[in-house]
Amino acid sequence: MKLYNTMSRRVEEFVPIVPGKVSMYCCGPTVYNYAHIGNLRTFIFEDVLKRTLMRAGYSVLHAMNITDVGHLTGDGDDGEDKMEKRSRETGKSVWDIAEFYTKAFFRDEDALNIIRPDIICKATDHIQEMIALIKRLEEKGHTYIAGGNVYFSIDSIDDYGKLAGLRLDDLRSGARIEVDSNKRNPKDFVLWFTNSKFANQAMTWDSPWGRGYPGWHIECSAMSMKYLGEHFDIHCGGIDAIPVHHTNEIAQSEAATGHTWVNYWCHGEFLLMGDAKMSKSSGGFVTLPVLEEKGYDALDYRYFCLTGHYRSQLRFSYEALDGARSARRSLMEKIAALKAETCPAEKVGDAAKEYMDSFDAAMENDLGAPEAVARLWQMMKDSSVPAADKLAAAYHMDGILGLRLDKAEAEEKIGSEDDLRLLDERTAAKKAKDYARADEIRAELERRGYIVKDTPQGAVLQRRV
Ligand code: AMP
Ligand code: ZN
Repeated sequence: MKLYNTMSRRVEEFVPIVPGKVSMYCCGPTVYNYAHIGNLRTFIFEDVLKRTLMRAGYSVLHAMNITDVGHLTGDGDDGEDKMEKRSRETGKSVWDIAEFYTKAFFRDEDALNIIRPDIICKATDHIQEMIALIKRLEEKGHTYIAGGNVYFSIDSIDDYGKLAGLRLDDLRSGARIEVDSNKRNPKDFVLWFTNSKFANQAMTWDSPWGRGYPGWHIECSAMSMKYLGEHFDIHCGGIDAIPVHHTNEIAQSEAATGHTWVNYWCHGEFLLMGDAKMSKSSGGFVTLPVLEEKGYDALDYRYFCLTGHYRSQLRFSYEALDGARSARRSLMEKIAALKAETCPAEKVGDAAKEYMDSFDAAMENDLGAPEAVARLWQMMKDSSVPAADKLAAAYHMDGILGLRLDKAEAEEKIGSEDDLRLLDERTAAKKAKDYARADEIRAELERRGYIVKDTPQGAVLQRRV
């Protein structure tokens, strides 16, 4: 298995710390609002990575956090807590907001057929672990207190910024004007806020430094170490986490332990809306329920994500999503037809095996999903592969794609009400031996993008791809 490692900026052979096992931590959602489909692209990428590791024979221990405190609207400890802001805007308690959007997040994940992480950990349940880690940093001289807050001093380590390739000189000279004059270095970051700018902060805890709340970065270090140990295999997130969040996670984790924390850093590229990153703050974001209200299946979006490589930007548009939908539907129809005809082979022949192997090879080469999907389609169209082999191989591939191919139903009705009414009209015309009218209707349905198929169970529509 090969993976691109942001730390080395190279595709590397993946070698786990413990043979046969993989420990993987993924930064989870900040639950102050619905996840947008850009966030979900990152979670789909992580799910595909996990499934590919499992296919490669590893047993994967996957932990993900739920950020319900400490994530400020600005990355440089400026702005206000996203949860608190939402609470103020809606009049609901932060706890109710967290619960509501956590549920909404897992509903989306389930609809997208994302395998639940083995460990789901909430930041607010791990305040003591965070305090313990900050104490450890304090004992080793990596912190200072200013204006009531506890800061991590990036000058106390000598490799700050190695993930993003940041140079300290550049950081100093290029730093934007800092709002926080307590910082000795503009890139220092808060571990614990006591002197909150927000008098009404609802979520506060006692600590050795006074009542307050944690900075955002410390949660991921504390929780990942608790569940995966102080040295684990893979840490994932979106690329926006590289310059600040993951950079700071590494600084504090390695300062505390004195050794390498994570071996492979894997980052998913952005989903774009127009030319810009889709984001909650810019307002123009789309959620999964919005797509579903428009008649798309969540899996149309999953399929859409699989058509792009995770390290390339992917531009969202409804036209592109329509393309993914018709391709996925056509795939489901083909699988349904195979299911109606046969059962999956227990042992496949050479032709199907070759497709399976090249599919796995594409995925195990830094998750080449677009190439892998192309292999699936090649096989589906290859008439030399027996139906039972085809079905078994498609299910094998779906173990990674996660498109629920096994749920394809032969009786799935394709076509809108109006299309199906026309199809009935054609059947009636044929019965009345009005073949001219029947042909006319067939031509109309073909114009609408269908193939009309006469089966022993009656006429059905298939979508043309
Ligand atoms: P958040 O809920 O803001 O903490 O973000 C959850 C995940 O989504 C993080 O890993 C982000 O890096 C990622 N993310 C944010 N915006 C996008 C985007 N437009 N495309 C892909 N991933 C994103
Ligand atoms: Zn994180």
